[in-house]
Amino acid sequence: MSYATPLEARIAKKVTKAIVDYRLIEDGDRVMVGLSGGKDSWALMQILDVLRQRAPISFSLIGVTVDSGYDGYRHDLISKTCEARGWAYRIVHTEIGETIEDLLAADATPCSLCARFRRGVLYRLATEVGASKIALGHHLDDFIETLLLNLFFAGSLKAMPARLVSDNGEHVVIRPLVGVTEAEARHYAKASELPIIGCCCPACGDLSLQRQRVKRLIAELEVEHPDIRSSMIRALANVGTRHLLDRRLHPVPEQALIAADRLDEGAVPLQLIKR
Ligand code: SF4
Repeated sequence: MSYATPLEARIAKKVTKAIVDYRLIEDGDRVMVGLSGGKDSWALMQILDVLRQRAPISFSLIGVTVDSGYDGYRHDLISKTCEARGWAYRIVHTEIGETIEDLLAADATPCSLCARFRRGVLYRLATEVGASKIALGHHLDDFIETLLLNLFFAGSLKAMPARLVSDNGEHVVIRPLVGVTEAEARHYAKASELPIIGCCCPACGDLSLQRQRVKRLIAELEVEHPDIRSSMIRALANVGTRHLLDRRLHPVPEQALIAADRLDEGAVPLQLIKR
């Protein structure tokens, strides 16, 4: 069976590589796809369905939507589309939006609190539908933007994992689009005639200034260095831990600590004493 378009073939190749490299999907898995109706979630659902029909292993899919309760959210389009394509689907209606408004200070950004609430609902749903994996639509650009955001503004060198086991060990979150760019996901969702909808959250589309800046920075650098995105994503899989400063990676030997203590006390290091 051939792919519908060269774009689909390219995305399928990248997703298959991620699945193999990070053991994202295994024989017998029931994969629950977070389906917000945004381009990335549709692209993920579509490509996993294509791969499911061709894969040498057997796995099943179910799309799930967490409705945050914002007026005008067209979740009906998601359920209709899933029905038309024969995709198993569940939706859970919540009051996450209202709860966030009550809890959050006026000048605070809602996204991290929102993500925590939604993650909690997804975990509960995963148990209910018997899912062994929870697939999220984060793509390559999300990974590298998160890396730079943490580097520039949080004093931390980290992005996000392609495969994450929840703290209680009960759930496995996977991100099969790790190698797929945002532009590819957008074109693929559109070409697959999937109804891209917004979540109707007041903050939606109003990305934080820092994320906007990082997006712009990458786009500017890309003009001079077209391979910059692929270099950054490769860097995340090619970490030179010996060339970092985190002492948790390189515990300092006890002797060195004693010498450092003595230096603090005014002792002159041996190598500095003239003989
Ligand atoms: S934009 Fe809105 S829906 Fe999206 S993560 Fe932020 S608060 Fe949640």
